[in-house]
Amino acid sequence: MVNHILVITANSDDAATLDKVLDRAHDGPFCIEWVTRLSLALERLRLKEPVAIDAILIDLALPDSQGLATFSQLFALAPGIPIMTLSELDADQQTAEAIRLGAQGSLSKGHFGSALVPQALRNIIRRKAVEEALFVEKARLIITLNSISDAVIGTDLHGNVDYLNSAAEQMTGWLQADAQNQPIDSVMRLVNDQTRAPVTNPIFKVLQDDACKLLATGTILIRRDGSESAIEDSAAPIHDSAGHLKGAVMVFHDIAAAHAITEKMAHQAQHDSLTNLPNRSLLNDRITQAIGLAERHNSELALLFLDLDNFKHINDSLGHCIGDQLLQAVALRLCSCVRSSDTVSRMGGDEFVVLLSQNHSAEDAAHTAEKILESLAATFVIAQQQLFITASIGISTYPNDAQTTQDLIKNADTAMYQAKEEGRNNYQFFRSEMNRRAVERQVIEAHLRTAMDNGEFILHYQPKIDLHSGKITSAEALIRWQHPAWGLILPARFIPVAEACGLIVALGRWVLVQACTQAKRWENCGYQLDSIAVNISAQEFRHKSFVASVTNALAVSGLPPHNLQLEISESVLMRDAEASVTILQQLKALGVQLAVDDFGTGYSSLSYLSQFPLDVLKIDQSFIKDIHRTNGIIVNAVIAMGNSLKQRVIAEGIEEAVQLEFLRHHHCGEGQGFLFSHPVSVERFANLLRCGISSPINTLCQATGT
Ligand code: C2E
Ligand code: MG
Ligand code: MG
Repeated sequence: MVNHILVITANSDDAATLDKVLDRAHDGPFCIEWVTRLSLALERLRLKEPVAIDAILIDLALPDSQGLATFSQLFALAPGIPIMTLSELDADQQTAEAIRLGAQGSLSKGHFGSALVPQALRNIIRRKAVEEALFVEKARLIITLNSISDAVIGTDLHGNVDYLNSAAEQMTGWLQADAQNQPIDSVMRLVNDQTRAPVTNPIFKVLQDDACKLLATGTILIRRDGSESAIEDSAAPIHDSAGHLKGAVMVFHDIAAAHAITEKMAHQAQHDSLTNLPNRSLLNDRITQAIGLAERHNSELALLFLDLDNFKHINDSLGHCIGDQLLQAVALRLCSCVRSSDTVSRMGGDEFVVLLSQNHSAEDAAHTAEKILESLAATFVIAQQQLFITASIGISTYPNDAQTTQDLIKNADTAMYQAKEEGRNNYQFFRSEMNRRAVERQVIEAHLRTAMDNGEFILHYQPKIDLHSGKITSAEALIRWQHPAWGLILPARFIPVAEACGLIVALGRWVLVQACTQAKRWENCGYQLDSIAVNISAQEFRHKSFVASVTNALAVSGLPPHNLQLEISESVLMRDAEASVTILQQLKALGVQLAVDDFGTGYSSLSYLSQFPLDVLKIDQSFIKDIHRTNGIIVNAVIAMGNSLKQRVIAEGIEEAVQLEFLRHHHCGEGQGFLFSHPVSVERFANLLRCGISSPINTLCQATGT
């Protein structure tokens, strides 16, 4: 590598001599830059490009600066570049002073021609590079030693302290400056923890034997202020490059602190950081242990898998900070519902698992689940806000439901999903058919994806009847899946799956277009139906393009809007009642009829119900079935409410003549049910339209004379 030398002298003869000797250097030429003034030199050094200067030769007598001030200015600008002065033969004192200030050496005038000049320059360049590397190495060592938690103390050959890192300063209570040159046994006073007898510092053994040593166990370090800590350490000799012993280094740490750290790390690995509850890994261990015990004692245990209902909604609307606090509060309530021998753990997100480990029967588990639901029902106050949350719980038991840790968790999880499906805020025991159903759902989902393209869906129609005249007023479209191998499948088996995998939106669009088109066809054939009713699922109803897809179905089919009735179940409307009002208003603006389906099952808020622009209330089948048991109290109440809200009331699921009689008697306008007709194919429905329904109404009409 060519070294770049900056020569600063006003003496052109000196410059020429140096140029010549450096050019002819036997180990390769130097590259010389020559300037005649200090100001020019400083200017050159300020330039970082094109090439860095490796060394400087400077005459201290320059036109714009004289003497040591010249050197000082230069050195201040370039402390990292080795500098040699060019001095007069009689300027020894000035040369010595310059070296004290940082110069690497000096060349005497009159000797510039010597072949030793290039060698001297190479030496100072190399030396400077080594010095720099050493400096960096030392800085790294000091930073490292001060960053570690172990204490490090160095001594000389006689055991006198010559180094302490920060941790050693803290542990001994001695500052490096105070400890310097103090005997190691003054800085580190060691005693035995049992006998309190002084313990010889292993540094002395190291210096004596020139070998590594460990500190005797049970050693206590007494700090400068008299406080104590149990320590563990090792000491080792230090040698120079020739292998001669030069001193020793001792490394030690506080055992209590180290234990605390180890324990903390073990705790962190097994606990959830938000709630401090055992995490999945610790839970697995505990379940496995509990299974082992239960097996030996021939006893039972139970696992509760709990998932908060609609927690995502709280997290999304109020922020993660509130969500986190709620989870912490839930964790506390869960813990208050179980015994200390039970385990409450967090699986992540809003999922918790409770292990009831000691001889818990299924009844105990049900009791605990009830206690948990009750405890969660009380209002939470987080950041001055009142929050309400419910949970769905699945329960599996050992040995009845599963024999392994994984199966117990899996089955409790499956049962939890069932609890969600049962309307949330409840608990369910695992049943083996749940597993079968979970598998079936997967199979159904796989087939559903192609069913639409294969044209496997059809609509059946069920007539709605005017309960006084017995005439068909309208039709409800009910989807069926005509599977090539499995036959006709009812919606209960595939609609929830289509909802879960998002296919429901496309399916719903198809149903709307199909039903509207069919209604228009009947109209064209001269059959006057008040409306065609289409069922709308939760996801469709909330989908941003739902209103547009209704508009589209009407446009495609040419069906007048008032001939379309949308049936939305009560629980869907109430889930986010505020938003429902807006969507319903948009639909109402299209001119379609709106019906609330399965009325009576969805915990309606009556104040919202009056805000919804509804045309029809469909009383849920369960109340019709119960008429004879309850004397029809609820049915009566709904009919009265519909009347005062100016809404038509339809009774679903009429199967028996007595039910019909009751409804007629209490002025229920319309009805639907197997008593009149099952849902039927398009052709059979057209037949019903043509021929009318031979229903008991005619008999009733005759009997009552209406
Ligand atoms: P839903 O809207 O309440 O429909 C009434 C259900 O009760 C229908 O079952 C019907 O066949 C049945 N039903 C009618 N009369 C009687 C009776 O007298 N006794 C008894 N026991 N049942 C009767 P289906 O067709 O199996 O439909 C079940 C549910 O699936 C529907 O309840 C509706 O919520 C949903 N669904 C049906 N078709 C569609 C659709 O195209 N889209 C959406 N999103 N959901 C649909
Ligand atoms: Mg319906
Ligand atoms: Mg219904």
